[in-house]
Amino acid sequence: MGDRCGKCGNEVPLERNTCPHCGGDNLFPNVRQASQTAELEALEHRYQTGRDDCRRRGCLDVLDEFESAVSNSKAVFACSLSKLIALVRQPGIFSNYYHLQRIQFHSESKPGEPNWKTLRPHAEIEFVGSHKLMDQLHYACLTLNDCGLPHYGECTILLREDMIAHRSSVFEENSAMFVQRKGVPLTKGLRSTWGDRMKLCVAKLARQIDADTNSENFPELLLKPGRQAIDDNFVEVQIFGDMTILTFERVRLASAKASTPTRMRKRTRRGSTDERAVRELCLKHHVFCDIV
Ligand SMILES: [Zn+2]
Repeated sequence: MGDRCGKCGNEVPLERNTCPHCGGDNLFPNVRQASQTAELEALEHRYQTGRDDCRRRGCLDVLDEFESAVSNSKAVFACSLSKLIALVRQPGIFSNYYHLQRIQFHSESKPGEPNWKTLRPHAEIEFVGSHKLMDQLHYACLTLNDCGLPHYGECTILLREDMIAHRSSVFEENSAMFVQRKGVPLTKGLRSTWGDRMKLCVAKLARQIDADTNSENFPELLLKPGRQAIDDNFVEVQIFGDMTILTFERVRLASAKASTPTRMRKRTRRGSTDERAVRELCLKHHVFCDIV
Protein backbone atom coordinates (compact mmCIF):
# COMPACT_ATOMS: atom_id res chain seq x y z
CA MET A 1 0.00 0.00 0.00
CA GLY A 2 2.10 2.89 -1.22
CA ASP A 3 1.42 6.29 -2.67
CA ARG A 4 1.20 4.97 -6.18
CA CYS A 5 -1.80 3.97 -8.23
CA GLY A 6 -2.15 0.20 -8.48
CA LYS A 7 -3.32 0.60 -12.06
CA CYS A 8 -1.01 3.09 -13.76
CA GLY A 9 1.81 3.21 -11.20
CA ASN A 10 1.87 6.99 -10.95
CA GLU A 11 1.86 8.88 -7.71
CA VAL A 12 -1.54 9.73 -6.27
CA PRO A 13 -1.92 12.59 -3.77
CA LEU A 14 -2.79 11.22 -0.33
CA GLU A 15 -6.13 12.95 -0.09
CA ARG A 16 -7.44 11.41 -3.32
CA ASN A 17 -9.52 8.25 -3.47
CA THR A 18 -9.33 8.02 -7.26
CA CYS A 19 -6.22 8.31 -9.40
CA PRO A 20 -6.05 11.75 -11.13
CA HIS A 21 -4.05 10.21 -13.98
CA CYS A 22 -6.00 7.11 -15.02
CA GLY A 23 -9.16 7.35 -12.96
CA GLY A 24 -8.30 4.15 -11.07
CA ASP A 25 -10.29 3.88 -7.89
CA ASN A 26 -10.58 1.90 -4.69
CA LEU A 27 -7.91 3.88 -2.95
CA PHE A 28 -8.88 4.32 0.65
CA PRO A 29 -7.41 7.51 2.10
CA ASN A 30 -7.71 6.38 5.73
CA VAL A 31 -5.84 3.15 4.97
CA ARG A 32 -3.19 5.06 3.03
CA GLN A 33 -2.74 7.48 5.93
CA ALA A 34 -2.34 4.58 8.35
CA SER A 35 0.19 2.97 5.99
CA GLN A 36 2.56 5.96 5.93
CA THR A 37 6.13 5.04 6.88
CA ALA A 38 6.13 7.42 9.86
CA GLU A 39 2.93 5.83 11.19
CA LEU A 40 4.20 2.28 10.67
CA GLU A 41 7.51 3.04 12.39
CA ALA A 42 5.88 4.75 15.35
CA LEU A 43 3.42 1.89 15.74
CA GLU A 44 6.17 -0.72 15.52
CA HIS A 45 8.13 1.12 18.20
CA ARG A 46 5.15 1.25 20.55
CA TYR A 47 4.36 -2.40 19.83
CA GLN A 48 7.90 -3.51 20.67
CA THR A 49 7.87 -1.34 23.80
CA GLY A 50 4.70 -3.11 24.92
CA ARG A 51 6.24 -6.51 24.28
CA ASP A 52 9.43 -5.57 26.14
CA ASP A 53 7.36 -4.42 29.09
CA CYS A 54 5.52 -7.75 29.31
CA ARG A 55 8.74 -9.70 28.83
CA ARG A 56 10.29 -7.88 31.79
CA ARG A 57 7.24 -8.60 33.94
CA GLY A 58 7.19 -12.28 32.96
CA CYS A 59 3.86 -12.22 31.12
CA LEU A 60 4.87 -12.24 27.47
CA ASP A 61 3.01 -15.51 26.95
CA VAL A 62 -0.22 -13.85 28.10
CA LEU A 63 0.43 -10.92 25.77
CA ASP A 64 1.02 -13.34 22.89
CA GLU A 65 -2.30 -14.97 23.64
CA PHE A 66 -4.00 -11.56 23.71
CA GLU A 67 -2.40 -10.56 20.41
CA SER A 68 -3.56 -13.76 18.80
CA ALA A 69 -7.12 -13.23 20.08
CA VAL A 70 -7.20 -9.65 18.78
CA SER A 71 -6.01 -10.76 15.36
CA ASN A 72 -9.47 -12.34 15.09
CA SER A 73 -11.37 -9.38 16.52
CA LYS A 74 -14.36 -8.05 14.62
CA ALA A 75 -15.87 -4.64 14.04
CA VAL A 76 -19.16 -3.87 15.75
CA PHE A 77 -21.31 -0.82 16.23
CA ALA A 78 -24.60 0.01 17.88
CA CYS A 79 -27.42 2.16 16.61
CA SER A 80 -31.05 2.85 17.27
CA LEU A 81 -33.79 0.69 15.81
CA SER A 82 -35.09 3.75 13.94
CA LYS A 83 -31.84 3.93 12.01
CA LEU A 84 -32.27 0.34 10.86
CA ILE A 85 -35.89 0.93 10.06
CA ALA A 86 -34.78 3.66 7.66
CA LEU A 87 -32.97 0.87 5.82
CA VAL A 88 -36.17 -1.16 5.67
CA ARG A 89 -38.23 1.74 4.32
CA GLN A 90 -35.63 2.76 1.78
CA PRO A 91 -33.27 -0.12 1.04
CA GLY A 92 -29.80 0.98 0.05
CA ILE A 93 -27.06 2.91 1.75
CA PHE A 94 -26.83 2.81 5.49
CA SER A 95 -26.55 6.36 6.87
CA ASN A 96 -23.40 7.53 8.60
CA TYR A 97 -22.91 10.30 11.14
CA TYR A 98 -23.08 13.08 8.56
CA HIS A 99 -26.12 11.84 6.66
CA LEU A 100 -27.93 11.67 9.97
CA GLN A 101 -26.96 15.22 10.84
CA ARG A 102 -28.32 16.45 7.56
CA ILE A 103 -31.70 14.92 8.22
CA GLN A 104 -31.59 16.05 11.85
CA PHE A 105 -31.65 12.53 13.14
CA HIS A 106 -28.69 13.03 15.41
CA SER A 107 -29.30 14.54 18.81
CA GLU A 108 -27.37 17.67 19.73
CA SER A 109 -24.53 17.42 22.23
CA LYS A 110 -25.92 17.57 25.73
CA PRO A 111 -24.67 20.21 28.19
CA GLY A 112 -21.28 19.17 29.53
CA GLU A 113 -20.73 16.84 26.58
CA PRO A 114 -18.01 17.45 24.03
CA ASN A 115 -19.11 19.28 20.90
CA TRP A 116 -19.18 16.40 18.41
CA LYS A 117 -20.05 18.70 15.53
CA THR A 118 -16.59 20.25 15.65
CA LEU A 119 -14.55 17.38 17.10
CA ARG A 120 -15.76 14.69 14.70
CA PRO A 121 -14.79 16.63 11.52
CA HIS A 122 -11.38 17.54 13.00
CA ALA A 123 -10.64 13.88 13.66
CA GLU A 124 -12.02 12.86 10.30
CA ILE A 125 -9.82 15.23 8.31
CA GLU A 126 -6.87 13.62 10.07
CA PHE A 127 -7.99 10.17 8.96
CA VAL A 128 -8.69 10.95 5.33
CA GLY A 129 -6.05 13.66 4.85
CA SER A 130 -8.33 16.40 3.59
CA HIS A 131 -11.74 17.99 4.02
CA LYS A 132 -12.48 16.90 0.43
CA LEU A 133 -13.13 13.31 1.43
CA MET A 134 -15.02 14.00 4.60
CA ASP A 135 -18.46 12.53 5.32
CA GLN A 136 -17.45 9.11 4.05
CA LEU A 137 -16.45 7.29 7.18
CA HIS A 138 -18.50 4.94 9.30
CA TYR A 139 -17.37 4.29 12.85
CA ALA A 140 -17.27 1.01 14.74
CA CYS A 141 -15.15 -0.57 17.44
CA LEU A 142 -13.24 -3.80 17.90
CA THR A 143 -14.87 -6.64 19.77
CA LEU A 144 -13.84 -10.14 20.84
CA ASN A 145 -17.26 -11.35 21.91
CA ASP A 146 -19.58 -9.70 19.36
CA CYS A 147 -20.82 -7.23 22.01
CA GLY A 148 -20.77 -3.50 21.29
CA LEU A 149 -21.25 -0.33 23.30
CA PRO A 150 -24.66 0.16 24.91
CA HIS A 151 -25.02 3.96 24.72
CA TYR A 152 -25.70 4.27 21.02
CA GLY A 153 -28.85 2.26 20.66
CA GLU A 154 -30.55 -1.09 21.04
CA CYS A 155 -29.22 -2.62 17.82
CA THR A 156 -25.80 -4.23 17.70
CA ILE A 157 -24.39 -4.76 14.23
CA LEU A 158 -21.43 -6.96 13.51
CA LEU A 159 -19.66 -6.21 10.23
CA ARG A 160 -18.40 -8.75 7.72
CA GLU A 161 -14.64 -8.72 7.71
CA ASP A 162 -14.38 -9.43 3.98
CA MET A 163 -16.50 -6.33 3.30
CA ILE A 164 -14.50 -3.91 5.43
CA ALA A 165 -10.90 -5.12 6.02
CA HIS A 166 -9.48 -3.47 2.90
CA ARG A 167 -11.05 -0.07 3.64
CA SER A 168 -10.76 0.17 7.39
CA SER A 169 -8.30 1.97 9.61
CA VAL A 170 -8.14 1.61 13.36
CA PHE A 171 -7.48 4.21 16.06
CA GLU A 172 -6.50 3.53 19.64
CA GLU A 173 -9.51 5.21 21.27
CA ASN A 174 -12.51 7.41 20.56
CA SER A 175 -10.86 9.76 18.06
CA ALA A 176 -13.17 12.70 18.75
CA MET A 177 -12.38 12.48 22.47
CA PHE A 178 -8.70 12.27 21.65
CA VAL A 179 -8.90 15.42 19.54
CA GLN A 180 -10.67 17.19 22.37
CA ARG A 181 -7.87 16.26 24.79
CA LYS A 182 -4.80 16.54 22.60
CA GLY A 183 -5.87 18.41 19.46
CA VAL A 184 -4.54 17.80 15.95
CA PRO A 185 -2.42 16.57 14.24
CA LEU A 186 -2.88 13.10 15.69
CA THR A 187 0.19 11.69 17.41
CA LYS A 188 1.96 9.16 15.17
CA GLY A 189 1.61 5.47 15.98
CA LEU A 190 -1.92 5.60 17.36
CA ARG A 191 -3.55 4.21 14.23
CA SER A 192 -3.15 1.14 12.08
CA THR A 193 -4.52 -0.71 9.11
CA TRP A 194 -7.06 -3.46 9.77
CA GLY A 195 -4.35 -6.09 9.30
CA ASP A 196 -2.15 -4.49 11.96
CA ARG A 197 -4.87 -3.92 14.54
CA MET A 198 -3.41 -6.44 16.95
CA LYS A 199 -0.17 -4.44 17.06
CA LEU A 200 -2.13 -1.33 17.93
CA CYS A 201 -3.99 -3.18 20.69
CA VAL A 202 -0.76 -4.59 22.11
CA ALA A 203 0.75 -1.09 22.10
CA LYS A 204 -2.28 0.29 23.90
CA LEU A 205 -2.96 -2.49 26.39
CA ALA A 206 0.30 -4.33 27.18
CA ARG A 207 0.70 -2.38 30.43
CA GLN A 208 -2.68 -3.62 31.62
CA ILE A 209 -1.74 -7.26 31.16
CA ASP A 210 0.01 -9.30 33.82
CA ALA A 211 0.58 -12.96 34.66
CA ASP A 212 -2.88 -13.20 36.24
CA THR A 213 -4.71 -11.97 33.16
CA ASN A 214 -6.50 -14.76 31.36
CA SER A 215 -8.37 -15.02 28.11
CA GLU A 216 -11.70 -14.40 29.82
CA ASN A 217 -10.47 -10.88 30.62
CA PHE A 218 -9.56 -10.09 27.01
CA PRO A 219 -12.96 -8.91 25.73
CA GLU A 220 -13.30 -6.34 28.49
CA LEU A 221 -9.73 -5.22 28.11
CA LEU A 222 -10.47 -4.37 24.50
CA LEU A 223 -13.90 -2.85 24.94
CA LYS A 224 -15.34 -1.56 28.18
CA PRO A 225 -18.49 0.56 28.29
CA GLY A 226 -18.38 3.51 30.68
CA ARG A 227 -21.25 4.94 32.69
CA GLN A 228 -21.85 7.30 29.81
CA ALA A 229 -20.64 7.28 26.23
CA ILE A 230 -17.73 9.65 26.86
CA ASP A 231 -16.32 7.19 29.42
CA ASP A 232 -16.36 4.24 27.05
CA ASN A 233 -13.02 2.57 26.57
CA PHE A 234 -12.60 1.04 23.12
CA VAL A 235 -10.52 0.77 19.98
CA GLU A 236 -12.18 2.65 17.13
CA VAL A 237 -12.55 1.45 13.55
CA GLN A 238 -13.08 3.85 10.64
CA ILE A 239 -14.63 2.34 7.54
CA PHE A 240 -14.37 4.36 4.33
CA GLY A 241 -17.31 4.37 1.94
CA ASP A 242 -20.84 3.11 1.88
CA MET A 243 -22.46 0.23 3.71
CA THR A 244 -25.63 -1.67 3.01
CA ILE A 245 -27.38 -4.58 4.68
CA LEU A 246 -24.96 -6.86 2.81
CA THR A 247 -22.05 -5.37 4.78
CA PHE A 248 -23.58 -6.79 7.96
CA GLU A 249 -22.75 -10.22 9.33
CA ARG A 250 -25.23 -10.16 12.15
CA VAL A 251 -27.84 -7.87 13.66
CA ARG A 252 -28.90 -8.21 17.26
CA LEU A 253 -31.85 -6.27 18.62
CA ALA A 254 -32.09 -5.71 22.35
CA SER A 255 -33.57 -3.43 24.93
CA ALA A 256 -31.42 -0.31 25.26
CA LYS A 257 -31.70 -0.22 29.04
CA ALA A 258 -31.56 -2.86 31.75
CA SER A 259 -34.51 -5.16 31.54
CA THR A 260 -36.83 -3.81 34.20
CA PRO A 261 -40.39 -5.11 33.70
CA THR A 262 -41.73 -1.70 32.57
CA ARG A 263 -39.03 -1.26 29.99
CA MET A 264 -39.53 -4.77 28.71
CA ARG A 265 -43.22 -4.15 28.24
CA LYS A 266 -42.52 -0.86 26.56
CA ARG A 267 -40.06 -2.44 24.17
CA THR A 268 -42.42 -5.21 23.18
CA ARG A 269 -45.23 -2.79 22.53
CA ARG A 270 -43.11 -0.29 20.61
CA GLY A 271 -40.82 -2.65 18.85
CA SER A 272 -42.59 -5.72 17.68
CA THR A 273 -43.59 -4.44 14.24
CA ASP A 274 -40.32 -2.63 13.65
CA GLU A 275 -38.33 -5.54 14.97
CA ARG A 276 -40.12 -7.94 12.66
CA ALA A 277 -39.50 -5.62 9.72
CA VAL A 278 -35.78 -5.52 10.45
CA ARG A 279 -35.67 -9.26 10.90
CA GLU A 280 -37.40 -9.81 7.57
CA LEU A 281 -34.94 -7.50 5.84
CA CYS A 282 -32.06 -9.47 7.37
CA LEU A 283 -33.57 -12.82 6.40
CA LYS A 284 -34.08 -11.67 2.85
CA HIS A 285 -30.38 -10.85 2.60
CA HIS A 286 -29.15 -13.86 4.56
CA VAL A 287 -27.95 -11.75 7.47
CA PHE A 288 -28.22 -13.48 10.83
CA CYS A 289 -30.65 -11.59 13.06
CA ASP A 290 -31.67 -12.28 16.63
CA ILE A 291 -33.88 -10.44 19.06
CA VAL A 292 -32.78 -10.81 22.68
ZN1 LIG B 1 -3.62 5.61 -12.00
